[in-house]
Amino acid sequence: MCGCVNELTINYELSTNMNLLQKYIEQYKKNLKKGKIIVISGPSGCGKTTICKELIRRNKNIVFSISYTTRPKKIGEVNGKDYFFVSEKEFWKMVRQKKFVEWAKVYNNYYGTPKKNLVETIKAGKDILLEIDVQGGKNIKKQHPESLCIFILPPSLEVLKERIVKRKREDLAEIKTRLRNIEKELKYIKYYDYILINDDLKDTIKNIETIISSSRFCKNFSEIWRKK
Ligand code: ADP
Ligand code: 5GP
Repeated sequence: MCGCVNELTINYELSTNMNLLQKYIEQYKKNLKKGKIIVISGPSGCGKTTICKELIRRNKNIVFSISYTTRPKKIGEVNGKDYFFVSEKEFWKMVRQKKFVEWAKVYNNYYGTPKKNLVETIKAGKDILLEIDVQGGKNIKKQHPESLCIFILPPSLEVLKERIVKRKREDLAEIKTRLRNIEKELKYIKYYDYILINDDLKDTIKNIETIISSSRFCKNFSEIWRKK
């Protein structure tokens, strides 16, 4: 008799709390399946492109967001793989048509992240990786507070200079412009969630992968839990 009463009481308690618990469990599972927006920014030459390529190679669930740019194609770059290279006229048409989730002028050229690809990728449960400048990073964070924004620093200014020069992609004038921009870029660090020094590439990749996987359990990076 006593056992029956306890059972009834427990069942009553359970039924009243069950709906909420069930809802939370379902939301947790939904969050695990949802694609993430990952933003990588940092001074030119710190290793953003290298990091992104390695992340894509190792993680089949991450899709690289190919930006549109008005800057001329450089040696080794492929249209539709590194960027979509377009004229200013085409770029502005896309701006007017609201085809970019964000766009910015960087070192005298325009760059923009296409909206459609971003929306469709996260909807499909895949993560999307954006290698964009600090203006773009700030903009994405504002529109998508659940995005993971990572700022990459070089081990030192000397190493940064060495990396840019060794890359042999820009002429001296352009290298100077890029180095001069660092101070301005650092002011945006406050909009980022994580800061990493890209010294050993393997460590950097491992750290970013840890950030991505642990963010799935962090309520601050989940649209669902942040609303509560
Ligand atoms: P960004 O995209 O930030 O301008 P890149 O990815 O083009 O920088 O890297 C600049 C140069 O530094 C490249 O030659 C790249 O191979 C090299 N590099 C990138 N990361 C590292 C690292 N962790 N250690 C040594 N060299 C690196
Ligand atoms: P690069 O000319 O070296 O390829 O790129 C110059 C800068 O533009 C880098 O900081 C790069 O991250 C940034 N960039 C590339 N694509 C985009 C984009 O779509 N939006 C913004 N805001 N910046 C971008």
